[in-house]
Amino acid sequence: MIYLKNYIGGELVGPVNNEHIDNYDPSRGQVYSQIPDSTKEDVDKAVEAAEKAFPLWSGLSKSERSDYMIKIANIIESRLDEFAAAESLDNGKPVSLASHVDIPRGVSNLKFFATAILHYASESHYMEGVGVNYTLRKPIGVVGCISPWNLPLYLFTWKIAPALAAGNCVVAKPSEITPMTAFMLSEVCKEAGLPEGVLNIVHGLGHKVGDAITRNPRIKAISFTGGTTTGETIAGIAAPMFKKLSLELGGKNPNIIFADCDFDKALSTTMRSSFANQGQICLCGSRIFIERPIYEKFKEAFVAKTARAKVSYPSDPEAKLGAVVSKPHMEKVLSYIELAKEEGGTVLTGGEQVVLEGEYASGYYIRPTIIEGLDYQCRTNQEEIFGPVVTITPFDTEEEVLTMANSTQYGLAATVWTENLTRAHRVADELHSGIVWVNSWLVRDLRTPFGGVKSSGVGREGGFEALRFFTEPKNVFIKS
Ligand code: NDP
Repeated sequence: MIYLKNYIGGELVGPVNNEHIDNYDPSRGQVYSQIPDSTKEDVDKAVEAAEKAFPLWSGLSKSERSDYMIKIANIIESRLDEFAAAESLDNGKPVSLASHVDIPRGVSNLKFFATAILHYASESHYMEGVGVNYTLRKPIGVVGCISPWNLPLYLFTWKIAPALAAGNCVVAKPSEITPMTAFMLSEVCKEAGLPEGVLNIVHGLGHKVGDAITRNPRIKAISFTGGTTTGETIAGIAAPMFKKLSLELGGKNPNIIFADCDFDKALSTTMRSSFANQGQICLCGSRIFIERPIYEKFKEAFVAKTARAKVSYPSDPEAKLGAVVSKPHMEKVLSYIELAKEEGGTVLTGGEQVVLEGEYASGYYIRPTIIEGLDYQCRTNQEEIFGPVVTITPFDTEEEVLTMANSTQYGLAATVWTENLTRAHRVADELHSGIVWVNSWLVRDLRTPFGGVKSSGVGREGGFEALRFFTEPKNVFIKS
């Protein structure tokens, strides 16, 4: 049995209470490691270590901090296969996905912010004949980063990297469901010689560790990615304490396919935007709206392709979908399929658990599922399912599809397929969404603002937005 440890003050240490939680391999449905069931006491120690490290870390030059981060990124890159295998084992995703997306992106996040900070200039505002204002951007101090299980290292580094680059010290919590690569990152930080206490990683449950991070008055900012309900809880605690808050929350993204689209491109990308990572990406397009003239043709081709997509154990090179992350999550997704049927939906393909053979017989697999015949306002079309389940709905006019697309409480991302440039601009403008992809999906430029509107979040990550979040501006005026 592998025992993971917390990373506090530069050391790998067990939790104060010596209690542990089971960590499951979702592809086999078996416990394969134990993680610290940490408490407030562990968080307090981490905060103390971070506070102690802050003068040194914030006092280093930007290029010195950048060098440490590049070193960490390079070590992860040199161990890419090992990290990808660990991510896949912990999360259930195909190894090919972890090695092409998750781990390379974790490396890019570190490199991107390690270099972005070198190009980050503060503002100045000159007043003719009066004087000049210049704005200092100071690190905040100790900040908290809390991340989910769907893209473990990818989202963990997306927060930690800008926080560290800006000169903060961090107390971070990965999801207790997928802690492995965060643990490996702590080993890499030791190897890279990151000064002790600069980054602290405390493993454990959300309502214990996450809550303690949120409530700690010495943590001045919280960057959180996860569900909307958890975001609400965190905001309720942190807002009255006047903490800076960045909340990246749930989505129920529309994928709008007009009849004049490039059919083959729309079809193949819709396969990915529906089922990549078993549909467990906040950006997946789970509500697919198809213009009526191509509805039947698209439906037939999409259903046929989906029915052929292989659901298999993560190391199977043929696997298009692996396991979903946990048994409770599998049960939740399956319950939504039942709900869809109760709401009058027809399952065109999938709709059931897949039981593999041999050592994978107890794993958590779901066949990719397409449902039609549902009203756009029903629960299946309004609530986030976060699994390999999509609905398809025909539409006749732009106005109608915009009403349906904008009808949920969420507003994270949207996809539009059309060869009509004017319409692309018009629809992109009308969508209530933080991100719109036209004739593409999940093309990411790390410089762009990332985040959602409505219940999908508050604030933006990415590029200089993230560096602004992790710094406090101070304006200085000098009279001329
Ligand atoms: P959760 O909200 O359940 O958990 C996210 C993180 O918060 C975990 O580390 C969790 O800990 C922790 N947490 C749970 N309760 C608390 C609490 N009371 N106080 C502080 N921290 C807490 O989300 P999931 O992990 O289930 O992730 C899926 C969700 O994340 C989906 O809604 C998805 O849309 C969203 N997401 C959003 C993205 C975006 O960029 N907008 C990107 C990716 C996902 P633990 O799990 O260890 O209990």
